[in-house]
Amino acid sequence: MCGIVGFTGAAQAAPILLDGLAKLEYRGYDSAGLAVQNAAGKIEVVKAKGRLKVLSEMTDGGSAVSGSCGIGHTRWATHGEPNDVNAHPHVSQSGDIALVHNGTIENYAVLKKVLSDHGYTFKSETDTEVLVQLIEYIKLTSSCSLLEAVREALLQVEGAYAIAVVEKGNPDTLIVARKSSPLVIGVGDGETFIASDATPIVGYTDKVIYLKDNELAQISR
Ligand code: GLU
Repeated sequence: MCGIVGFTGAAQAAPILLDGLAKLEYRGYDSAGLAVQNAAGKIEVVKAKGRLKVLSEMTDGGSAVSGSCGIGHTRWATHGEPNDVNAHPHVSQSGDIALVHNGTIENYAVLKKVLSDHGYTFKSETDTEVLVQLIEYIKLTSSCSLLEAVREALLQVEGAYAIAVVEKGNPDTLIVARKSSPLVIGVGDGETFIASDATPIVGYTDKVIYLKDNELAQISR
């Protein structure tokens, strides 16, 4: 069991993501990472094997990563050993889409083969990287929105997932979805949180939505 957190609002995201991940530490993990979209629209990813403390030190408690929309993850490796490269978030080939995932994608090898045939290359050994590449492939070939691309990609996926996705140039949007892995949305005042359970959210808001299986949500502040 790993952990997912996400935030979009007016505040700096990274310290909130680190704080949320710390509250999910009890679930167990082997690596951690975060992706935040900065004011210039670029997605910055920082991730590392080991304790959350390593990620916190790498980012100066989050203050070294600027931006108010982002996602964070603590990983419990199922596909590929625990290391820096296999840690989440995973990023699409263009670098425009970043994704965190809790669960397993059973048909990842088939999807990976199809994407490889279309020229996609993979940096990690994870099932998760296949999903972010698939989302990008669908988005580019169908000229659709991120939401539509995620929806279409998930129709092709067999397995269990809670996911959170951010896209370059879309600075106030998180796409989340779940099937067999939990995901909770916290609705604050001009800010929105997501997490694997309510523990990271309760300090900010008591308005909580439990996403149901096979539901997808587009989130803004
Ligand atoms: N299957 C994914 C991986 O191995 C996600 C594991 C998790 O739930 O942390 O990277």
